[in-house]
Amino acid sequence: MTALDQTLHDIYDEVLHRNPGETEFHQAVYEVLSSLEPVIAKHPQYADAAVIHRMCEPERQIIFRVPWHDDSGTVQINRGFRVEFNSALGPYKGGLRFHPSVYLGIIKFLGFEQIFKNSLTGLPIGGGKGGSDFDPKGRSDNEIMRFCQSFMTELYRHIGEYTDVPAGDIGVGGREIGYLFGQYKRITNRYESGVLTGKGLTWGGSQVRTEATGYGAVFFIDEILKAANDTFDGKRVVVSGSGNVAIYAIEKIHQLGGIVVACSDSSGYVVDEKGIDLELLKEVKQDRRERLDAYIEGRGGAAELVNGRLTWDVPCDIAVPSATQNELDGDDAARLIKNGCKIVAEGANMPCTPEAVKLFTEAQVKFAPGKAANAGGVATSALEMQQNASRDSWTFGYTEQRLAAIMNGIHDRCLSTADEYGAPGNYVVGANIAGFIQVADAMLAQGLI
Ligand code: NDP
Repeated sequence: MTALDQTLHDIYDEVLHRNPGETEFHQAVYEVLSSLEPVIAKHPQYADAAVIHRMCEPERQIIFRVPWHDDSGTVQINRGFRVEFNSALGPYKGGLRFHPSVYLGIIKFLGFEQIFKNSLTGLPIGGGKGGSDFDPKGRSDNEIMRFCQSFMTELYRHIGEYTDVPAGDIGVGGREIGYLFGQYKRITNRYESGVLTGKGLTWGGSQVRTEATGYGAVFFIDEILKAANDTFDGKRVVVSGSGNVAIYAIEKIHQLGGIVVACSDSSGYVVDEKGIDLELLKEVKQDRRERLDAYIEGRGGAAELVNGRLTWDVPCDIAVPSATQNELDGDDAARLIKNGCKIVAEGANMPCTPEAVKLFTEAQVKFAPGKAANAGGVATSALEMQQNASRDSWTFGYTEQRLAAIMNGIHDRCLSTADEYGAPGNYVVGANIAGFIQVADAMLAQGLI
């Protein structure tokens, strides 16, 4: 970890003190604070008005009981969360995660990241995040529905198109958003399309929302390549995960001429030297909700399954970690660098540990942090909100063009801000500072909030 100056150090100490045990939240805060020294040197008003202090404290944190019946009639109890972190730029916006590892510290790290990510999109959305320690794996459709209905029975009173607009994340896709929206509609007796994003295309959803996070990350990498007069053509890529973000990252990389040779799930990873067969992967993971060994079966042994490890020992030009937080550590980074990897873009939120990021930076690997590289998902959610507000629906081509333009804008803003603050080419510094300044200025303008 780099040393922080005294003001930032004091803020970080207070965060540790007020949020004991929330290690992922501490990590996310530290990562942002370590970019802000030149900002408070140039703009002391941010420190004077305690803007950074205030930004580290969520506006509201909601924790609730989620009781539901499983298929055998047994009562199950989970814990639900919604952290409404910052509404300076617009209604709270951020996904819901259903995964057994979820606790307050995970939701706070994700909500904190979301503030800066949403700011970077240039769209009017604040930052929030939510979820539950519910494990959807192995649950029937009926169990998922009953859980979602119970979850929304509490959540509905805290959300609304002008208040807080949740979407999907790990374990929450189109099926779950459908059940959540249906229950919101029953309770409120309102067809309030803009209350959730990631909806189905026939009932208020946006074209490209499903693909947006993966596509957006690849558009961002394409901008990095263009800045070096390069292209995806023939590039060997490794992606981790095989969920929403990973699948559409693979799809767009293949469209742009790259070849993805490996992906993973929580059981292990697949190496397919001919390139991942995307239709088969979608069938296994999206339609049949099975494990990657079913992919190997489908390939008739032409690909190899490695159990229990992540994908980073496979040599590649570009790595796109798209599974979960802290999935790529210092050893993995050293291996990637040794094997010639030149670009790493975070499809997931905070998948690289601080040690890994440090090694990439030292080795001059182009490193795109999640708050910039995976912002395409939330940006397209904001486009879905625009369509809902105007009762309109746009074509796939037009929406994809808007997404590509937003990713181009984020890329350029990161680079110009990094230049301005003395860290040319450093996307981490650029993303943190550009994201921060816009929120900080809005908070200053709105008084002591
Ligand atoms: P999904 O649930 O669709 O997919 C997650 C994938 O990661 C699955 O393949 C899953 O494996 C794997 N995975 C999850 N946890 C672990 C773990 N602990 N170890 C190994 N593999 C794991 O989620 P998404 O694709 O939506 O999200 C992936 C990441 O992208 C998250 O960090 C999320 O916050 C981030 N993100 C998502 C956005 C979106 O629009 N969906 C927007 C911006 C960021 P398995 O199938 O075995 O569970």
